[in-house]
Amino acid sequence: MRIDKIRNIGIVAHIDAGKTTLTERILFYTGRIHKMGEVHDGQAVMDWMPEEQEKGITITAAVTQFLWQSHEIHLIDTPGHVDFTIEVERSLRVLDGAIFLFSGVEGVEPQSETIWHQADKYRIPRVAFINKMDRVGADFFAAVEMMKKKLGARPALCQIPLGAEERHRGVIDLVRMCGVVWDEEDLGITYHDVPIPAEMADEAAYRREELLESIVEYDDATMEKYLQGEPVTAEDIDRAVRAGTLALELTPVFCGAAYRNRGVQTLLDAVIKYLPSPADMPPIKGFHPTTKEIVTREPRKDAPLTAFAFKIMMDEGRKLSYLRIYSGTLNAESVVYNASQGQRERVARIFQMHANTRKRIAAAYAGDIVGVVGLKHIRTGDTICDEAHPIVLESIEVYEPVISVAIEPRSIADQERLLDSLEKLSAEDPTFRYRFDEESGQTLISGMGELHLEVLVQRLTREFNVRASIGRPQVVYRETITRAVEEEGEFAREIGGKLQHGKVRLRVEPLERGKGLVFLSALGPEELQNECLEMVEEGFRGSCLSGTLKGYPVVDVKCTLMKAEYREGQSTPLGFRIAAATAFQKAYERAGPILLEPIMSVDILVPEEFSSGVIGDVNARRGRVSEILPRKHIIEIRASIPLSNLFGYSTELRSLSRGRGTFTMQFERFDELAS
Ligand code: GDP
Repeated sequence: MRIDKIRNIGIVAHIDAGKTTLTERILFYTGRIHKMGEVHDGQAVMDWMPEEQEKGITITAAVTQFLWQSHEIHLIDTPGHVDFTIEVERSLRVLDGAIFLFSGVEGVEPQSETIWHQADKYRIPRVAFINKMDRVGADFFAAVEMMKKKLGARPALCQIPLGAEERHRGVIDLVRMCGVVWDEEDLGITYHDVPIPAEMADEAAYRREELLESIVEYDDATMEKYLQGEPVTAEDIDRAVRAGTLALELTPVFCGAAYRNRGVQTLLDAVIKYLPSPADMPPIKGFHPTTKEIVTREPRKDAPLTAFAFKIMMDEGRKLSYLRIYSGTLNAESVVYNASQGQRERVARIFQMHANTRKRIAAAYAGDIVGVVGLKHIRTGDTICDEAHPIVLESIEVYEPVISVAIEPRSIADQERLLDSLEKLSAEDPTFRYRFDEESGQTLISGMGELHLEVLVQRLTREFNVRASIGRPQVVYRETITRAVEEEGEFAREIGGKLQHGKVRLRVEPLERGKGLVFLSALGPEELQNECLEMVEEGFRGSCLSGTLKGYPVVDVKCTLMKAEYREGQSTPLGFRIAAATAFQKAYERAGPILLEPIMSVDILVPEEFSSGVIGDVNARRGRVSEILPRKHIIEIRASIPLSNLFGYSTELRSLSRGRGTFTMQFERFDELAS
C-alpha cells in the first residue's frame, strides 16, 4: 500500500459512549467481520478479552487493519480509563490521527476531556463523531457547544443530524449539501443521498455558511472564491478542512447512531479525507546512540529502517511485539538492531494484526503498524533500526507502580500456576510488578491504580486459571537510610558436606532521592575473584528487595565493599553472598532507616468557579500546588500530593466541582514520610 493511502488512527471515547459498537460496525462494513454481534452478546471483535466486556472498558492496545475506499486503515485500540496511563500514552504515541467519539446525550465527558488535552500535547489531528443521535435527549448542538467550552476546540460542522431522537434517519452533509439515509433492512450496508427536507433547508443553508466562514482561511483558492462570491465546491471545502485539521486548528464534526447503523461509512470517508497519512507527518526525530546527535528520518520506505516497539504481549509463550515503522523496510527473517539496548536481534515473522487473528507477511514498510515474533530481548519503548544507521527514539515513560494488594492462592496447585502467570503478565505490562514477601508469606502485586490491579487479578483467574483471594489495596512505600555506617559480616557453615565461608566489611551511605542503588568495591583487582565480588553485590541487592524496617524495597543507598577475607579452600561465592547480606542488614539497622512515600504529580482541570475549593482541598491533603495555568475556560492546577491521601480522590473532586473536574495522576518521586 502506498504510504499516502495509510491512516493510523485510534478512537477515543468515554466509557459507554459507543466505541465498541462503532468499532464493530466499522469492521463489519469494511468486511473484516461477517456477523455483527451486539455488545451484550459478547461478540465484539476488539474487546476480545472477556473482562473488557464485563467492565465495558478496553484495555490492550490491540491493532486491527482494514480497507476503505482503497485506503488501508490501522485502528489502534485506545483505552479510555486513566488507570491505564501507559496504554493511553503508548497509543497516542503511535497514532497519526484520532476519532473523538462523544455521546449525543451526555456530550463531552471528563475522561475524553483528559485525553483531548493529552492529544494536544502529542499534536494529534482529530475528527469528532457525535453518536447516539437516535436516543431520547440527544442534542447535537449542545454537544458541539461542550466541545467549545470544555475542550477549547474549534468545531467545523461537516454534518448535522437528519432528525433527532426517534425521528433520526441519517445526516445532512453540509459539504455536498444533501441528505444521507441508511437502509434499515440490510443493517445499514446500503445508504443513499436524498434531497434536504424542505423544513430543514434554512437550517442547512445557515450551517453551511457557518462552515464556510470557519474554514476558508485554511485554503487560499477557497478563500478567493468565497470572497468573490463564486460557488465553493465540495473539493474546495475538503482541501480547506483537511488543512485546518492537520494544522490542529479545526475539528471537523460528524454524527450518527452507531447502534442503528447510521453515519459509520461517512465517518470513514472523513478519516480518509481529513486525517493525515504517515507521509503527512514531520520526519521522526531521535538521537544517535553513541554521538547523541539529533537524527531525523523521512517517512519513506527507501530510508534506513526506524521502528518503535509500543507494546509487547506474551503470545503462546513467545513475545509478540507491536512495531510502528516510521521509515524504511522491515523484512521477515532478517537481522535488525535494537539501538536502545545495543543488541542485534532476529525478526522471525511479521504479521498484520486483526484483534485476535493475524496474517503473515514478508515485509512491512514506513507507515505500517505490525506484530513481530522473534525479537527476544525487546522491551516496550525500544527502537529497532538498521545497524549501519542507528537511531534511538524517545522511549515511553514507564511509571513506578504505587499501589499493591496481597494475593493469596486458594490451593497448592493455584500457588504453582500463580508465579508462572505473574511472570507472563509482567512481561506484557511494564507497570505491573510482583514479589513474594518472606515475612508475611504473601505474594504482593503492584500497579498503577486500583482498577489496573483488579483487571489483572481477573485475568489471572480467566486466562491462567488461578483462584486466589485479594487483600485491600495498599500504598507501596520505600525504605532508605539517613546515616553512613560500616559493618562486618561473616558466614561459616557446612552446607552439603562442604564448608562455606565468607567475610566482608561493607560501608553503606545515603544517596540523594531518585539515585537508586549503587555498589562499589574499594578493593584492588587481585584481592577478590570476580565471581565472589559479584556475589557480594548480589547479597547487597538481594537484601534491598525488602528492607528490615517494614519490608519495603530499599532505595537510594550506596554500598561499598571495604574489606574481604579470602580463605583458600574455605571461601565460597555462597559464603560471600550470605556474609554480605548479614553485614548489610547489621549496618542498615544502625543507619537510621526511614520510610519514603510515593508523591504523585496530579494534574487537575476544573472550571474557574471551582478552583479555589479544589486548591484548598489539595492543601488539606498535604499537597503542594506547583502551578496554576488558566486555559480557555478552565483552570489547570498542577500539584504534588502524597498517594496515601489520594484514595477516593475522584469522588471528592467530582463533588467539589459538580462533576466537572477531571484529573490525571502519575508517579513523581518518593519523599520522606512526614511523621
Ligand atoms: P463503549 O463503552 O464506548 O465501548 O460503548 P458500547 O459500544 O459498549 O455502547 C454502550 C451502550 O450504548 C451499549 O448498550 C450500546 O448498545 C449503546 N449504544 C451505542 N451506540 C448507540 C447509538 O448510536 N444509539 C443508541 N441508542 N445506543 C447506542
